[in-house]
Amino acid sequence: MYFFALYAGIIWFGVNYFRRRWPAYVVLLVTIPVALAGVQLIRTLLHIDNMILSIVATAYEALILMVGVMIVLVPRRPHAMQPCHRCRYDLVGNTSGTCPECGRLINPGVEPGRPAVVE
Ligand SMILES: [Zn+2]
Repeated sequence: MYFFALYAGIIWFGVNYFRRRWPAYVVLLVTIPVALAGVQLIRTLLHIDNMILSIVATAYEALILMVGVMIVLVPRRPHAMQPCHRCRYDLVGNTSGTCPECGRLINPGVEPGRPAVVE
């Protein structure tokens, strides 16, 4: 019983890890033959051949795929904003050490040419 939850968790973790990138779609495509093989293995091992098992397995796989597609379609989080303390200008990637909007010194200890705020 735990296998089914573990399987869904692994698939959703993989899809979330590669969200909005092509490997996520590969993970989703791989779930279909793996799930079909799993159902066939259960049928063979337990000598079960009824319609209920097929319906439950199909619903389970459909649930995994639908949630997986929803996870894939969620946009990746944009970079964390590092606002200037005076004017709220986003300082991510700033290498000058001063805010270009208001001129406030960001971090006096930063060497010239290095990012003042690290993502
Ligand atoms: Zn500023």
